[in-house]
Amino acid sequence: MELTELAREIGFEEACILSVETLRLLPEVREMCASGRCLLYGKRWSCPPACGSLEACDRRIKTYQRGVLVQTVGVLEDVFDVDGISRTEKTHKHRFEVLVRQARRVLPDCLPLTAGGCTRCAMCTYPKKPCRFPRKMMSSMEAYGLLVSDVCEKNGIPYYHGEGTIAFTSCILTEKRKGENYDSERNLP
Ligand code: SF4
Repeated sequence: MELTELAREIGFEEACILSVETLRLLPEVREMCASGRCLLYGKRWSCPPACGSLEACDRRIKTYQRGVLVQTVGVLEDVFDVDGISRTEKTHKHRFEVLVRQARRVLPDCLPLTAGGCTRCAMCTYPKKPCRFPRKMMSSMEAYGLLVSDVCEKNGIPYYHGEGTIAFTSCILTEKRKGENYDSERNLP
């Protein structure tokens, strides 16, 4: 079964093939992470600066040629529906965990990039001790400098689904370029 097909079975509203050629890593996205908008910057192994420089992330991404892009779309009661946003995020993270688990059975060195920093442990060990679950920890698309709206647009799925909706997007890079043996998790910088 194709991963896109499996993603739809798991419940993602959108799933498409992702071309690595479309991925541009932008310093501006890293600057947004560092600006304090995300409270996890500098606090998790999954997030900058611990997840590696943009150059290191770019090298890692370029060892792949294809992947899958998935999205969960939630319907909100109004723009202040914080519970709806958090419910959609939880659903997305759960779906993505299931998809990644399945993908890793056949593609152990695939590279998943999720939505938001790693929240697996209530207290991250960063920076004093190594990550507790290095093979389960996932960085976000933003941590890698990816502008999610740009990635969606270039790969043919909407980023915005209209008023009263919220979307969470993640991807898994799956298909290695010929001759690449880079292991996405064992060779963290
Ligand atoms: S798995 Fe735990 S220790 Fe590792 S990055 Fe996530 S929160 Fe931190």
